[in-house]
Amino acid sequence: MAIEKQPSCDDPIEPALLPVAIALQRMQAAVSVIEEIETVSLRDSLDRVLAADLKSPVQVPAYTNSAMDGYAINSADLPSGDSEVSLTILGTAWAGRPVDAELKPGEAVRIMTGGMMPTGSDTVVIQEHVQVEGDSITIDSTTSAGRNVRHAGEDINVDDIVLPQGTLINPAELGLIASLGMDQVQVKRKPVVAFFSTGDELRALETHAGKALGPGEIFDSNRHTLFALLSKLNVELVDLGVVADTQEATRAAVIKASQCADLVITSGGVSAGQADFVSKTIEELGELTFWKLAMRPGRPLACGIVNNCRFFGLPGNPVAVMVTFYEFVQPTIKMMMGCIDTESPRFTVTSKEAIRKVPGRIEYQRGVLTTSEHGVVSVATTGKQGAGRLSSMCLANCLIVLPAECDGIKPGDSVQVQPFFGLV
Ligand code: AMP
Ligand code: MG
Repeated sequence: MAIEKQPSCDDPIEPALLPVAIALQRMQAAVSVIEEIETVSLRDSLDRVLAADLKSPVQVPAYTNSAMDGYAINSADLPSGDSEVSLTILGTAWAGRPVDAELKPGEAVRIMTGGMMPTGSDTVVIQEHVQVEGDSITIDSTTSAGRNVRHAGEDINVDDIVLPQGTLINPAELGLIASLGMDQVQVKRKPVVAFFSTGDELRALETHAGKALGPGEIFDSNRHTLFALLSKLNVELVDLGVVADTQEATRAAVIKASQCADLVITSGGVSAGQADFVSKTIEELGELTFWKLAMRPGRPLACGIVNNCRFFGLPGNPVAVMVTFYEFVQPTIKMMMGCIDTESPRFTVTSKEAIRKVPGRIEYQRGVLTTSEHGVVSVATTGKQGAGRLSSMCLANCLIVLPAECDGIKPGDSVQVQPFFGLV
């Protein structure tokens, strides 16, 4: 008698699988943005999200100044055609030390980059284009009127919105805020993210580092991967350790996590195995949004809500943890933080090699991007793509994203990649 087979990870096409794009839409619709605002010092605002539009209290530059080392002159003194003109040097305007004099016709002021333009001047002739003799200079007509001058307010005006609410503060933003003279920044409260690993086979480093493993045991690595991924997003972390594969332990952990966090991330225990309690528990205590996705790796993924706390039950396989984190958890956290920009960049490159794939699920393969001597970027896979091979993530510098309908790649075909340097 033929065995009646159930849907599994082995099936290329499974009608019950939810396409990733729909799952992402549902997930985004369910996110609630953190409302609480904190005022933090400028340096503490790094990697935080602006809670309100940032208006400039000042103009930048604060005063009209020279963009080059040279001589400040009045453009009315510029000679025409082939002629030259001599001007008397009145003094020197250093950055931070203006000259206290007004430029009259026939006069110039030696000026350094950033030096305040003296009254009566509107143009800087660079020092390389000047002939100096004693206290006078000779210039010709090559400099046009208004050259080499940075005008007050040309970058930013008073009350300009320099950074909109929802901006993630990176080094450029932090420097910009400093340039406005501000040392306090209003940001969103950090989301509190709790995480735990599930699995009877897991041995925690806290108790077993360096020790021999018993038969069938492995070190819990996912919790440390999650720690690293979450640390890069600068959230508040609550590490709840390793949870045994029992209904009671999972239930207790889910309740505890839901009471202390905005978001909970678990790994393992979300497939259809007999020791998989995470999705069942979320369903029992709250709402389960979806859990079987048309993606590889990461087909089993539980997403739900318990007591206003959002849950992501990631698969146990270490690579699947990272891929589902990048594709689902990271955008969710960024949205919760109120970030306007939640998408990680993707671009198209040429595949160096054939990649086998059957249509049905979107696949995220580990890839290595390289640049040829002619500047052409192409990608190859890291080789074997088993979801348990964390070393393949270390070899890779990007994910190759193969759409569900793709039925394989030939050498030279275009493929989409998501570089790790843009994935945080
Ligand atoms: P599961 O989703 O619980 O069936 O786990 C799938 C695979 O991932 C199994 O081989 C597990 O041993 C492995 N795995 C689960 N959790 C972890 C973890 N925290 N660290 C490393 N491997 C894990
Ligand atoms: Mg397990």
